[in-house]
Amino acid sequence: MYAFNYQCPQALAEAVSAFTAADDATWLAGGQTLVPVLKQHLAMPSDLIDLASIAELKGISVAGNRLSIGAMTCHAEVAGSPHVRGHIPALAELAGMIGDPHVRNRGTLGGSIANNDPAADYPAALLALDAVVHTNKRQIAADAFFTDLFETALDEGELILRVDFPLADKAAYEKFANPASRYAVVGVFAACTGNVSRIAVTGAGPCVFRADAMEQALNSSFTAAAIAGITADPEGLNSDMHASAVYRAHLIGVLAGRAINAANARGNGQ
Ligand SMILES: Cc1cc2nc3c(=O)[nH]c(=O)nc-3n(C[C@H](O)[C@H](O)[C@H](O)COP(=O)(O)OP(=O)(O)OC[C@H]3O[C@@H](n4cnc5c(N)ncnc54)[C@H](O)[C@@H]3O)c2cc1C
Repeated sequence: MYAFNYQCPQALAEAVSAFTAADDATWLAGGQTLVPVLKQHLAMPSDLIDLASIAELKGISVAGNRLSIGAMTCHAEVAGSPHVRGHIPALAELAGMIGDPHVRNRGTLGGSIANNDPAADYPAALLALDAVVHTNKRQIAADAFFTDLFETALDEGELILRVDFPLADKAAYEKFANPASRYAVVGVFAACTGNVSRIAVTGAGPCVFRADAMEQALNSSFTAAAIAGITADPEGLNSDMHASAVYRAHLIGVLAGRAINAANARGNGQ
């Protein structure tokens, strides 16, 4: 490790001021990605602004047809929340599949999506559920938020406050997990509201993406049979020691079918 300034503001305005005043600050959430990065000196910010004490970044609530989750909400809270389990159970299940108990009790929604690891689970949920990311400056639709490998639409210093998830009629998440880290080798989140279907794929490519051909086929019939003839193109997909691009392409079809079946089995009202 190296010497840096640690700051723990108690309010949002104080945090933003501290960030702005520092030479080269970074937000600290649960430290699950950031601390290893600092230990290896892959980044050496002058100041860590810890978000842990800021009440505005915490909590889970439901209003109208939206479920809101604060950026500093850890995965275990999402997995166990009666609001999430009652309104978007697929999201609670996804959170419960992340990493191990330590990671789920330290890692946060905001840290996960700001990091945008290509194998992270939450990006698939945000994209399939057509979520909106609220920051200290603006609102960003999930479709515009995840831009590339470990890249997002966030500006330097922009702070994620919360994510609003519209309540889908039906939704489910299926992942083929790396047996060691539990990150997604491939994960598919399927959601259907009215006659609009959205299928988001994580783990397979450099960045989470929507499966357009599947979505079009599902808009007339949200069934696994509707996508049975659609095969994902391995071109441009990830290929590594865990799985080839061809195998990942195959997994997309398998997991999408399972997610659609699971969403239909759960049914309307979830
Ligand atoms: C062993 C292990 C296994 C894991 N397995 C999985 C898995 O199966 N699936 C999965 O999806 N993830 C997995 N993760 C990732 C984990 O769930 C965390 O979400 C991720 O590491 C981010 O951690 P964090 O929330 O503590 O954020 P930090 O590490 O504190 O921060 C990460 C980045 O986000 C920025 N940031 C944090 N909060 C905000 C904010 N509110 N606004 C703007 N920027 C912000 C920070 O500046 C930093 O750049 C795993 C991690 C580990 C260590």
